[in-house]
Amino acid sequence: MAGTMAGTVAGTMAGTVAVIGGSIGGLFVAAALQRAGWVVHVFERVGVPLHGRGAGIVTHPQLIAALQHVGADISDLGVQVRDRVAFDLSGQHFATLPYPQIVTSWDRIYQILRRLIPDDSYHLGEALETFTEDEGGVTMQFAGGREHHADILVGADGFRSVVRAHLLPEVQPEYAGYVVWRALAQEAELSPEVRNRVFDVFGMFMPTGTQIVGYPIAGENNDLRPGHRRYNFVWYWPVAEDDLRDMLTDASGQTHEASIPPPLVRDAVLERMAETAALVLPDVFTHVLGKSDRPFFTPIYDHLSPVFARGRIGVSGDAACVARPHIGMGVTKAAQDALALAKHLSAAPIPEALQAYSAERVPASRAAYERSRLLGRHMLQAPAQGDNDDGRNNPNMDEILRLTAVADFP
Ligand SMILES: Cc1cc2nc3c(=O)[nH]c(=O)nc-3n(C[C@H](O)[C@H](O)[C@H](O)COP(=O)(O)OP(=O)(O)OC[C@H]3O[C@@H](n4cnc5c(N)ncnc54)[C@H](O)[C@@H]3O)c2cc1C
Repeated sequence: MAGTMAGTVAGTMAGTVAVIGGSIGGLFVAAALQRAGWVVHVFERVGVPLHGRGAGIVTHPQLIAALQHVGADISDLGVQVRDRVAFDLSGQHFATLPYPQIVTSWDRIYQILRRLIPDDSYHLGEALETFTEDEGGVTMQFAGGREHHADILVGADGFRSVVRAHLLPEVQPEYAGYVVWRALAQEAELSPEVRNRVFDVFGMFMPTGTQIVGYPIAGENNDLRPGHRRYNFVWYWPVAEDDLRDMLTDASGQTHEASIPPPLVRDAVLERMAETAALVLPDVFTHVLGKSDRPFFTPIYDHLSPVFARGRIGVSGDAACVARPHIGMGVTKAAQDALALAKHLSAAPIPEALQAYSAERVPASRAAYERSRLLGRHMLQAPAQGDNDDGRNNPNMDEILRLTAVADFP
């Protein structure tokens, strides 16, 4: 049996943990439990080191505290923005809310966490297929034939989690009715006028039914020098389920489930997106889009598991709950799950500790989930009178500006 490590580490209450999923959620769990004295192995189904396609990540004080707690190096974490600014269709700023925030990237967080995990504990190309639990622990089977045993199994395997499917087959992610298009433009390629207007703020455009959020992030290799950074463009756009199926169908006719790898998005889908952008977005943002590498889209799903653990099995991060990205809390929530898991496992025997973890994290995650749905409704809601094509008459503008990507939860 390869990788069998069951048992208790001498002199501590800790034992062995298998974490399924080697993305940010899994790395946070591994780092927090390793710090608490557990022997941790991470299994990631993708066979090569992960990268986040340049996705921007908004940070919150809770995330920074969690990174510090697990011993991550947070120097030069990201770009500091000071103000939130609402744009109208002509590209003018018409409302400003001071809200200092560090914005960073998925790759940056992944790399600083990955450094905390020894290479011989991080296994790429290992897809969990099934597992069995008994009084002595959990035995896992992987697609390539590997078997592994541990005291605890934590599913940090994302919103379509295999671990959650086993634990809670009734929990299914729900399509929110819109997708998010994302793109990255090099700062140096933006015209000086557009650069000055969009670059140094957390910008938003919020006509009824759609929304743009944009902010600067570091350039390649965490380059934070002005002129070398990138602009992170996030555009929510409603798509009916039938149209989504078409967007998820590649040039060979294969329809992908839930999401499609960006290189497989058909040119016709990209062309349609660009035509729509030209009709509905301010010129400053169509300029950014035009300067971007191949944009890609993610359908927005959410879900909340009623419990995050049973017996010796736990789920964390997106496997446990997806709050829509309006709230920008997925990474922070995964970090909070990891810290709670480590705290409870240091204080009580395994089943009780996992139950306490679930009891703490389900209500906290529900708060994030509900808030993100509220922001989704605000985006879609029509104004009581008049139209809002120019983004100036959104009836919920104050709340959207004040609550988007804000984690005012414990
Ligand atoms: C548009 C958008 C914007 C976002 N913006 C923000 C933001 O500003 N701030 C923020 O905090 N969060 C943000 N998020 C959310 C954030 O990216 C995630 O919530 C966060 O990364 C936690 O993910 P995770 O590690 O739990 O799951 P995932 O990143 O989905 O990772 C799951 C991993 O498990 C692996 N896996 C799956 N099945 C198996 C298996 N059977 N065996 C082994 N491995 C498996 C997968 O390959 C994957 O690597 C955003 C998300 C989106 C879509």
